[in-house]
Amino acid sequence: MNSIQITRAKHSKLKNTDFKNLGFGNFFSDHMLICDYKFGVWGSPEIVPFEAISLMPSSKIFHYGQSIFEGMKAYKDKNSNTWLFRPDENFKRLNKSAERLAIPQLPKNIFFEGLIKLLNIDNDWIPSAEGCSLYIRPIIFATGEGFHASPADAYRFMIATAPSGPYFSGKVKVLIEENYSRSANGGVGFAKAGGNYAGQFYPTQLAIEKGYDQVIWTDDNTHEYIEEAGAMNIFIRINDTLITGPTSDRILDGVTRKSIIQIAKNEGINLEVRKFKVSEVIKASNNGSLKEMFGTGTAAVISPISAYGYRGRDYILPKNKDSYATLLKKIIIDIQTNKSEDSYKWRFKVC
Ligand SMILES: *Cc1c(COP(=O)(O)O)cnc(C)c1O
Repeated sequence: MNSIQITRAKHSKLKNTDFKNLGFGNFFSDHMLICDYKFGVWGSPEIVPFEAISLMPSSKIFHYGQSIFEGMKAYKDKNSNTWLFRPDENFKRLNKSAERLAIPQLPKNIFFEGLIKLLNIDNDWIPSAEGCSLYIRPIIFATGEGFHASPADAYRFMIATAPSGPYFSGKVKVLIEENYSRSANGGVGFAKAGGNYAGQFYPTQLAIEKGYDQVIWTDDNTHEYIEEAGAMNIFIRINDTLITGPTSDRILDGVTRKSIIQIAKNEGINLEVRKFKVSEVIKASNNGSLKEMFGTGTAAVISPISAYGYRGRDYILPKNKDSYATLLKKIIIDIQTNKSEDSYKWRFKVC
């Protein structure tokens, strides 16, 4: 790979950005990484000002949805060091998604050298306040042209970043969905494909109209097994046992999920990775053994569920003094932000 060519933004937006009211993913830093795939090879990555891009209407992204993404965060510790959390996992997953969507594999050096350079150049955009981070969005999409339904012959890899505050989901109320499916056997549910989200929006809108915040996805075949919570992996706690479903081609292999599994085991929490039914959750609610439900994902880290709806009835989760969600969230965030020892070797120092 040749060295990365850099074109600096003429005017930084940094001074006009209110770091006290960032929200999540609303503001974008000054630069972005771009790298094009043409004639069977990836070209040299470039860093350019964050700005609009130009595509032909015949680009296949618009017609056949070949588009994948990742979600990561960069953190600043109190000594102004910059850290990533298990970035190798995101890189590997990007290429797993690419394979499933017939997108060419991205070389590791383009991803890492590009990302590290971008984080160096836009380092002042990484917020240092408590709970804040730079949200990182790598994407690959089809730029190649043609109306014939076949994979494109050209692609673009980009990384854009957004300084973000804490992802306040609050305590979410969810609806167990038995009609629509997020993913299916043999489908693309395990990939971070843009289209997976497009398909989720309508059922989620219907749930919102009914007074819920999110949908709990069940398996597409029987709708008996609980699989994911919106775009997060899901954990339930029955008595003192934490349970999460096994990953499959329908369930996304979340980095937060697998980190929480390891931390929970290390904390001596009884943890089971197995399929679990809606009926088991209802039974546990009815006999008082269902203590917690929470979603896990990079954006919110851990998002506690306050209640769930099923077949016209709402079931309220109890309040716990010794919440696993609270405990595990603190442990993982302390590792991510360099506030604690990292015995797992998950932190990656950028600069
Ligand atoms: C991204 C995503 C997750 C969470 O994955 P993390 O690696 O923990 O951010 C879970 N489920 C779905 C459907 C996702 O797209």
